[in-house]
Amino acid sequence: MPKPAAPDAPVKAPKENLSAPARAMRKLGGETLSAPARALRRLGLVRDIDLALHIPLRYLDETVLRPIATLRDLDQAQVQGKVTECRVETRHRRQLLVRVEDDSGELLLRLLHFYPSNQKTLAEGNLVRVRGEVRAGFLGREMVHPEFRAVTPDTPLPTALTPVYPSSAQLPQAYLRKAVASALGRAPLHEFLPAGTVPAGLPSLRDAVLQLHHPAKGESLAALEDRSHPAWQRLKFDELLAQQLAQAQARAARALLQAPSLKPTAGGISARFRAVLPFALTGAQERVVREIGADLARTLPMHRLLQGDVGSGKTIVAALAATVAMDNGWQCALMAPTEILAEQHFRKLVQWLQPLGITVAWLTGSRKGLGRKQMLAQVASGEALLVVGTHAVIQQDVVFKQLGLAVVDEQHRFGVAQRLALREKLQATNGPDVLEPHLLMMSATPIPRTLAMSYYADLELSTLDELPPGRTPIVTKVFEDGKRSQVVQRMQAEVDQGRQVDWVCPLVEESEHLDLQNATATHAELSAALPGVRVGLLHGRMAPAEKAAVMTLFTAGEMKLLVATTVIEVGVDVPNASLMVIEHAERFGLAQLHQLRGRVGRGAAASVCVLLYTAPLSPTGKERLKAMAETTDGFEIARRDLAIRGPGEFMGARQSGDALLRFADLAEDNDLLEHARAVAPLLLKDHPAAAQKQVDRWLGSKTDYVRA
Ligand code: ADP
Ligand code: MG
Repeated sequence: MPKPAAPDAPVKAPKENLSAPARAMRKLGGETLSAPARALRRLGLVRDIDLALHIPLRYLDETVLRPIATLRDLDQAQVQGKVTECRVETRHRRQLLVRVEDDSGELLLRLLHFYPSNQKTLAEGNLVRVRGEVRAGFLGREMVHPEFRAVTPDTPLPTALTPVYPSSAQLPQAYLRKAVASALGRAPLHEFLPAGTVPAGLPSLRDAVLQLHHPAKGESLAALEDRSHPAWQRLKFDELLAQQLAQAQARAARALLQAPSLKPTAGGISARFRAVLPFALTGAQERVVREIGADLARTLPMHRLLQGDVGSGKTIVAALAATVAMDNGWQCALMAPTEILAEQHFRKLVQWLQPLGITVAWLTGSRKGLGRKQMLAQVASGEALLVVGTHAVIQQDVVFKQLGLAVVDEQHRFGVAQRLALREKLQATNGPDVLEPHLLMMSATPIPRTLAMSYYADLELSTLDELPPGRTPIVTKVFEDGKRSQVVQRMQAEVDQGRQVDWVCPLVEESEHLDLQNATATHAELSAALPGVRVGLLHGRMAPAEKAAVMTLFTAGEMKLLVATTVIEVGVDVPNASLMVIEHAERFGLAQLHQLRGRVGRGAAASVCVLLYTAPLSPTGKERLKAMAETTDGFEIARRDLAIRGPGEFMGARQSGDALLRFADLAEDNDLLEHARAVAPLLLKDHPAAAQKQVDRWLGSKTDYVRA
């Protein structure tokens, strides 16, 4: 499978890069940058090595000319011929119509937008080279908005395939091609891995990179585009090796650090909490609580990932771990990715822990003023033993008296670099010569255990593989959008029974683009269809406080129906919601559908998830929806996801815009991963300098510049 992005689709710049242009300008001493130069920087393409590792999405074969007479509908082709006619037509719609003729036949070009310069290039009598998609139109063969340029009979044809790069609207391919070509000459691609490190049969890094940018004429396009080509294998291996090395280094560095040894005390907070737990723990919860407890008791800082399907009950596990820290007088921070989730955690933890005399502080970006000041003071003095908030807030401006345990919830962005950065920030929290906090990460996007074990070389793994009892399994139904009105009737019935409904729409941001029905329109439609029902709307462009207000109404049951884009985060717990409708379900990834579905079925009532799709479905889309209807087991979904999806879409990486790996693919490249795992320790031992260079080359890119 080729990369999932559409041809020439804009690539998402790393989040940290949003402010890059302004800083770049400063950094360059006031030099003014052109729009494409700024666009380059926004994509993180700054250093020569960044450009050299910006690998084409696909290639155009411009090495051959096709006789016009041989062109068929939907062919991608390049032809060359004389312009026999060039006129502006105004009758139906203003457009430039151009006839081109070669020895074999005639082709019509149509330009709906054009400039005088285009007319000049396409003037009658000129010889032109044209490339584009062929349409068998009403007037014969035609191309709409082809690429074209004037040539002479002896203008040479390229001898290599032409690369098409991931780009953005402000960055023309031609500009990017030039920038890459020039960077390739300078990029430091020399080999520093000792002989025997790289799997046999793979090219040197320089050769691999050059081949990927400019494959020779005979190369297999299929192997290049599905990433099985040896040149691709080399890049993937290097990336995996760098990650294994970085993790091994981190592990070694961690081994030198000391954390407080945290154990439950007799009659302490954790014992009292245990005595009043609102429910009996599942066997799986008991087991992971033990695993975490054993880590906390050691002086080696914990670095553990708790995987558990949506609804498996991770929050109580985190709360129990927190009480162990508190028993020893250490503080605990619980970080959630969004304010809504942070608020929900806060409420739950207050409900559980306040009766035990614990002060819980709540910090989010929108909490300002006196309340915030007081909370910060409580945290600094150590009076607040537990602090709940969004990642950003806790990481940036909170001073703890002494932080013993940090819990990061819904941490799906598990790129090695991000994880190491988080660890570093934590290390700075308690200052030098002070004990380090333990770290527990929680994720609801499980990846198969064997895969996780080999990839996450510096993480311990705990798994909640059991749901709390008493859940009625969610029934998932897949309908064509034509059945919408029946679904709306069903919603009315749910609401009449006092239950609540979630309606999920794809992103508003993308709607202009993809012609999706946006949340606002759906909100209006459903409000009209269900008179007397209070319908809320939640989307990404709302201010955090507005979002929180809507969420509060919904959680309290005052709002019966909530129309939302995917901002209705994973992990939000509204037990009374019993019906979820996901519109354009075919647009979502499997992992994301599963996350969304997890928002219903948390109470005892039988819950239904309706997946609405718009025909026609792609084969992958069909398989995804089928998988959703067939299973509710997150691990099974993860396995199916691996089998169905294309490379680079691993565990929700696509929706978070933060790919786990840039080049390699854990499902397909297991052999390379195993090889990297095997050689990493040897390299660190025998060639530490080469190992460091490898880490710097592959992990020290892009964001470094932005941070600088
Ligand atoms: P997640 O793993 O998705 O974060 P939560 O921690 O939000 O799951 O738990 C989902 C729901 O299940 C919550 O309402 C929680 O109180 C409840 N719950 C958790 N553990 C148990 C248990 N052992 N028995 C019954 N209910 C439980
Ligand atoms: Mg949760």
